[in-house]
Amino acid sequence: MNQLRSAQSRREADGIDYDVVVVGGGPCGATAAWDLARSGCKVLLLDRAGRIKPCGGAVPPRLLEEFEVPQSLLVARARAARMVAPSSRVVDMPVGEIGYVGMVDRDVFDEWLRARAARCGADRRTGTFERVEHDGLPGAVVCYSTARGGALERIRTRLVIGADGARSGVARGNIPGAERNPCVFAYHEVVKSPSATEQGFDGSRCDVIYQGRLSPDFYGWVFPHGETASIGVGSAHKGFSLRGAVQTMRDEMGLDGCETIRREGAPIPLKPLKRWDNGRDVLVAGDAAGVVAPASGEGIYYAMVCGRIAAETALAFVASGNPAVLRRARKDFLRLHGRVFWILGIMQYFWYSSDKRRERFVAMCADRDVQQLTWQAYMNKRLVRAKPMAHLRIFLKDCAHLLGLGQVGSRAGPQEVPR
Ligand SMILES: Cc1cc2nc3c(=O)[nH]c(=O)nc-3n(C[C@H](O)[C@H](O)[C@H](O)COP(=O)(O)OP(=O)(O)OC[C@H]3O[C@@H](n4cnc5c(N)ncnc54)[C@H](O)[C@@H]3O)c2cc1C
Repeated sequence: MNQLRSAQSRREADGIDYDVVVVGGGPCGATAAWDLARSGCKVLLLDRAGRIKPCGGAVPPRLLEEFEVPQSLLVARARAARMVAPSSRVVDMPVGEIGYVGMVDRDVFDEWLRARAARCGADRRTGTFERVEHDGLPGAVVCYSTARGGALERIRTRLVIGADGARSGVARGNIPGAERNPCVFAYHEVVKSPSATEQGFDGSRCDVIYQGRLSPDFYGWVFPHGETASIGVGSAHKGFSLRGAVQTMRDEMGLDGCETIRREGAPIPLKPLKRWDNGRDVLVAGDAAGVVAPASGEGIYYAMVCGRIAAETALAFVASGNPAVLRRARKDFLRLHGRVFWILGIMQYFWYSSDKRRERFVAMCADRDVQQLTWQAYMNKRLVRAKPMAHLRIFLKDCAHLLGLGQVGSRAGPQEVPR
């Protein structure tokens, strides 16, 4: 209580409105604001209203446990993934007893996270971030607008957390080199879907399609969301028709006649920024910091982890006033997830580069050891150390596949499905 009172009197003495202003109310910003508010910090969550984040919405069950998100926010649970090769060969990967892939609708999910942060004490404001200014007085001034062409509003804060997504305005304005971070552009269509179609759509399964004609450098997906489905693709190739690829997938899955609810796209960053802070009073996190898992494009869980780390870092900064602590955020995140990101980056670079390699990649997914470790890594969000022999077997098989040494998925048996 005494600490809170002294923080308040320091704010008043310095003319500071908020300890922290979080820009962006997606999974990252809403988590940061929630954690900061619960810790007694005076925090403002600034979000521009009115746009649903384009997203496949797939989340691991671990996210629900770690961030206390209720199961009721899941609109579907997929129990298997179907990998589709360029030859149309399909390999089913059942999750088994260890879990499921959860599906959230981002309009409901994000708003729930923002409302929770507000219930715990964060102030919420609707507005579009414009820039950070420094005027020689203590703190940073966040300038934002509430109406197009309207006058700018200003708030003074000790720290700005930029959680405003890929191509973040906070990062571009304050972190050198942020504007050059590479992205994949992802596009999807949300359709009203039946529970299954004769052509192969199945509302209890995620389909992941590795075919150069649908994506020359990433993949296509069909994710079930209960009464709807997300059908999408990603690619960094300028000029590649993402809409055309989605139309082809809809035609081939028997989903072409379904009502289209939304058509939308957004960039997905490909690698973490080299710096996440400006050495003074700005820290970026989540997509704004380039934190999305390579190869899979999974970003929701990592954005929430990043939001939590940003909040811990912000508390240390507000308590000490030392800008050097801001560097901890990137280090802490990469210590936890850097190795997985590195391996996934190599996988994307190697396996997504030609149809021949995609074919081998899908063949490798028929291996039960590969399936088990893939799901364990997805569920637990770390490399599983418990089975060194399985790792060794996979490493050898991986090498054999890389070198093109024939069929090594000998334990594939029942998981391979003719199409
Ligand atoms: C098509 C597509 C499919 C995807 N599918 C999946 C998936 O299935 N599973 C998965 O885990 N990840 C997926 N991702 C990635 C995932 O959506 C992101 O990694 C995740 O949303 C990042 O969260 P964030 O909070 O960092 O940013 P965002 O979710 O982008 O949130 C940013 C917030 O900032 C706000 N904002 C932006 N600019 C301003 C501004 N100037 N002023 C004020 N507010 C602002 C926005 O309104 C938004 O609320 C997908 C991405 C795309 C594009």
